[in-house]
Amino acid sequence: MEMGRGIAGMMLVVLLVVGRLGEASLPAHEASRAGKMGGTARRAVRDAAPLERFEGVEPHMGTLVSITVYAPDAAAARVAFTAGFARIRELNAILSDYVPDSELNRVTREAVGTPVAISPDLFAVLKRSLRLSAATEGAFDVTQGPVIRLWREARTVKRLPDAAALQEAAQRSGYAHMTLDETRRTVQFDIPGMQLDVGAIGKGYAASEALAAVTRAGVRSALVAVSGDIACSDAPPGQPGWRIRIHDGSLTDATIPPILRLTHRAVSTSGNAEQHLDVGGRRYSHVIDPASRTGLVDDIIVTVVSRHGIDADGLDTAVGVLGVERGLALVERDHEAAALIVVRRDGTTTAKVSARMRALIGASEGTPVR
Ligand code: ADP
Ligand code: MG
Repeated sequence: MEMGRGIAGMMLVVLLVVGRLGEASLPAHEASRAGKMGGTARRAVRDAAPLERFEGVEPHMGTLVSITVYAPDAAAARVAFTAGFARIRELNAILSDYVPDSELNRVTREAVGTPVAISPDLFAVLKRSLRLSAATEGAFDVTQGPVIRLWREARTVKRLPDAAALQEAAQRSGYAHMTLDETRRTVQFDIPGMQLDVGAIGKGYAASEALAAVTRAGVRSALVAVSGDIACSDAPPGQPGWRIRIHDGSLTDATIPPILRLTHRAVSTSGNAEQHLDVGGRRYSHVIDPASRTGLVDDIIVTVVSRHGIDADGLDTAVGVLGVERGLALVERDHEAAALIVVRRDGTTTAKVSARMRALIGASEGTPVR
């Protein structure tokens, strides 16, 4: 975990090349791809532009976080990195279910039968989550912590979770047992033993929040990637947008390019490529369908673009559980979201694109390539 330590103190920003970053997520943006090609320290852009490109990578939230900025010099970049990574660290201390004393873990112990005041960050995440639970009839549900934990253990021991244990865990899960009070900014749980898991929405939230911190630190053109959850602001100098990968290039549908050029957007991807359990010839995703308490078995990869990472990340998981038709309908009802859904079944790949994604593709293709 010391790989990110030295970054803040360095004059030139280090492109750290560490295994998982390149493979971790489908929409690896160009910066991490450059990193994969090697080199330990470099300036990525050496043209006449007054702004230079810097990238910093640190381990946070059980993954790698990379921040790319266009800044006048290394000192300005460093200020932005410090602000961005500090915000990530702060959010991890609030939202992590791995840190025993995180705010999230504390309130599930303390708010049983009594309302407990929580931070604006935790409230924002839980509020968005509850709204998604209602919109998906519980397909998306951050109170499935007990069930999700059993599947996490199952991936470690490579055996399906015990049915009785799943049933017991399901009794301590369910968003109907969580109540938020907006005016008092409190949360309350009506049964003991509940566990929250915001793994489906927290990294996207963190990406956009870190980007906001970078902006406040004076950098207007930046991209934050928390593993596969990306948020970007102004375009790099002289370019129409950040080049962001939305699929791995294997789609034969030529109308869906692998790379979009985006500004002021968040992009998240959910799928079973990275975390899964293979048992009896089946691949179970780390995304669980609360209705069946089972990891998804469909090979479905969902990429969502929206304004804020909280929406992109929340929706990618929700769409995955709902499946293509209901998932697309959910995205079309949202005023800002766009989705690409790729399903592989019996050797056939089907790609579905929401109306707003089609428009984004059109706008992205219409921009001049330099
Ligand atoms: P990734 O972590 O690869 O970015 P997701 O955004 O889809 O992918 O998040 C997956 C995580 O969400 C799981 O590891 C688990 O912590 C949590 N999760 C699993 N199933 C659900 C669900 N039905 N509703 C809400 N969260 C879930
Ligand atoms: Mg998600």
